[in-house]
Amino acid sequence: MERVIFSPMKYVQGPGAWKRLAEYAAALGERGAYAVAGPHVLKHYWKEVEQSFAEKGLPLCAHSFGGECSMAEIKRIVNEIHEKNCGVVIGIGGGKTLDTAKAAAFYAKLPVIIAPSIASTDAPCSALSVIYTEEGAFESYLILRNNPDVVLVDTSVIAQSPVRMLVAGMGDALATYYEARACFASGKATTAGGRSSLSALAIARACRDSLFKNGLRAKLAAEAKTVSSALDDIVETNTYMSGVGFESGGLAAAHAIHNGLTVLPQTHSAMHGEKVAFGLLAQLALENAPQAEFNEVLSFCREIGLPTNLAALGLKDVSDDELKKAAAASCAEGETMHNMPFAVTPQAVFAAIKVADKLGS
Ligand SMILES: [Zn+2]
Repeated sequence: MERVIFSPMKYVQGPGAWKRLAEYAAALGERGAYAVAGPHVLKHYWKEVEQSFAEKGLPLCAHSFGGECSMAEIKRIVNEIHEKNCGVVIGIGGGKTLDTAKAAAFYAKLPVIIAPSIASTDAPCSALSVIYTEEGAFESYLILRNNPDVVLVDTSVIAQSPVRMLVAGMGDALATYYEARACFASGKATTAGGRSSLSALAIARACRDSLFKNGLRAKLAAEAKTVSSALDDIVETNTYMSGVGFESGGLAAAHAIHNGLTVLPQTHSAMHGEKVAFGLLAQLALENAPQAEFNEVLSFCREIGLPTNLAALGLKDVSDDELKKAAAASCAEGETMHNMPFAVTPQAVFAAIKVADKLGS
């Protein structure tokens, strides 16, 4: 199998970076830009965005994001893009807003700029959109032709976002190295569609090292709503390193266990990265990783406030039967569980969840 590495064409990060949105948009689409923006962005940051386009003399159309990355919403947007004859799509906001913009650009065959307002997952850099029904249930993964043309991250915006989101982003990023390591060992295909590479594994390792070095200090800066060098590093870690690390390095048990846990409705109030962090503890138990490594991950999670046991994910009174259902779902056909370098059974996952819960309680 070939080695395949995906990454966004350009990754730009810094305080005030959004002031240059119009400059990047002008370079990609002279006819003007179509922006899909979340309500929070429209309320707090829209003036700045509009101003940068006015200064550049570039037409800007705005679409207030409807709340779901559904095919109906995507079609509405694509029609408007054609009507207004725009040349570039911009997504500004949280995960679903960005996924909708990526999908709309894909169907409209236009370049896309992604401007995340939070650093809660590693999705912004990827060539993937998650499609939901209009009611909000998972529908499908849409594999895109390309990664975003530009990912533009304004750290002063991220510093104003809820701290829990940044911490959840660190949970998602934390699993990256351990999952990439498993994929590298098994030689199975990554999300990018080839085998892992030395480069992807190196980025994944650097992602973990940055979390251990900067995680707590970044959280403290975010609590003070200010950009420090540790926060700057963690924004890159959560967004770029984790993004390239997962897409080209591969996912494995931690994300499969996350997906399995989502069959239990009690976990729905926990964020993606919070469930992934526990999924990672279970992966390490499944691998029978050295106790020192398990403890290193566990104490990091405790230090920054990521959940380390089932109760913290809303599963205080969960039954063994429910956990077995989640374990079975994590081993379903097509799940990234099968990227592990050894055969995994639902029974082994159930045992790993139980052990991780005990060690993390
Ligand atoms: Zn993830």
